[in-house]
Amino acid sequence: MSIRYIILGYLNTSDLTGYELKKAIAAHPFLPWSGNNNQIYKALTELEDNGYIQSQRVIQSLAPNKKLNRRFVIMKISPMMVTLIDKMGSDLSVVNAARVSFAKESDWEAINPVEFGMAHLKREGSLNTYEQGEVCLSAKDQKLISYLAKHNHWTPFAHAFLSFRIKAPIFVARQLVKHQVGLAWNEVSRRYVDDEPEFWFPEVWRKRAENVKQGSSNVEIPPINLLVRDTNDEYTNSPENFVEEALNFYQGLLDAGVAPEQARMVLPQNTMTEWIWSGSLAAFARVCRLRLDPHAQQETREIAQQINDLVPSEFEHSWKALVNGSA
Ligand SMILES: Cc1cc2nc3c(=O)[nH]c(=O)nc-3n(C[C@H](O)[C@H](O)[C@H](O)COP(=O)(O)OP(=O)(O)OC[C@H]3O[C@@H](n4cnc5c(N)ncnc54)[C@H](O)[C@@H]3O)c2cc1C
Repeated sequence: MSIRYIILGYLNTSDLTGYELKKAIAAHPFLPWSGNNNQIYKALTELEDNGYIQSQRVIQSLAPNKKLNRRFVIMKISPMMVTLIDKMGSDLSVVNAARVSFAKESDWEAINPVEFGMAHLKREGSLNTYEQGEVCLSAKDQKLISYLAKHNHWTPFAHAFLSFRIKAPIFVARQLVKHQVGLAWNEVSRRYVDDEPEFWFPEVWRKRAENVKQGSSNVEIPPINLLVRDTNDEYTNSPENFVEEALNFYQGLLDAGVAPEQARMVLPQNTMTEWIWSGSLAAFARVCRLRLDPHAQQETREIAQQINDLVPSEFEHSWKALVNGSA
């Protein structure tokens, strides 16, 4: 085991000088070597240069000044993020999935046939596109989409697909993964990955609601009022401090050789996770209808809102009809 890991392990429990580290290492019954000043101070310099520890000079009146070393983990704070990575189909493919019942097929309409000189139709696989000019869905087909959505004829909307890459804290992912039908979910696994976790923090802490079903009220709690007594019987008003402690502990467990699949259990629920979420247009519309509702948790609404912002450019009429009930 490298001396740097041994030093990080010791500094995880308390701030120590180089001399105290040497004494602790020398006294340890199982470490394979005793440690000497050269190795220890060289490793401390390397760790500080790489940002893993911070040293602080402590001025003492009755003894020589000393240099205390403190393990320093940089906590990465990250925003929630939804990226559309793939899609299949269009408003027209939804229409044609319905029109096949009558052995019929629709096509795009040129937006301004005169200006674009009546574009030529071109077949590309099963999709019709125009060689020149812009196209849109005909009024008749827009009406059909509204009708299908209104009467819950959902299967035509299940032939179109979307695939997202999403980054969100675990407590948000935990709610979203409950949506199952028509969707597939593959997530990063902290059994295998042990790189430094990222965390999410709210900009505003909300007061608990009078009505328990509401989850939270709109009343903000100023950070200065978030006083919590920590395990040292000291008051802190910083959730970031608490998370930093958990992160330090996680790193300490990894340094001690604990398997990532177990060490992860000390990470808090605001640890970021990442997953690829694919499924039908019908399924994502159901997710958004449920999670854009004001009764849904605000943090989870943020992911639904990002999905809701991305889909209309791909499925303008279908999305409007499915999510807002109007096309
Ligand atoms: C505001 C809010 C609060 C919530 N609170 C809680 C909570 O406190 N605890 C909790 O556990 N969950 C909670 N949920 C999750 C909720 O119970 C659902 O699991 C979640 O919304 C997924 O719903 P879905 O319709 O997308 O489900 P999916 O499982 O994806 O199902 C899709 C649809 O298929 C049909 N379906 C699926 N399974 C069956 C079945 N077995 N029988 C018949 N039809 C079926 C239904 O029509 C269903 O709507 C909450 C959800 C919301 C939006």
